Amino acid sequence: MIIPVRCFSCGKPIAHLWEEFKKRVADGESAKKVLDELGLERYCCRSVFLGQEDYIELVGKFKKS
Ligand SMILES: [Zn+2]
Repeated sequence: MIIPVRCFSCGKPIAHLWEEFKKRVADGESAKKVLDELGLERYCCRSVFLGQEDYIELVGKFKKS
């Protein structure tokens, strides 16, 4: 949906790194390299990034009834 502002497990603020991560992976860099360079060392934070998918705009098309 939307990247969590902080890592669920350890509380490290991570949301500000998401756009750069997404852009660099889309440009063909490996996810491991980008995560290492962004300073995300703990696997809890890394898993948030690897499992993240932006679909808030898709969900927004459906209304509650
Ligand atoms: Zn974490």
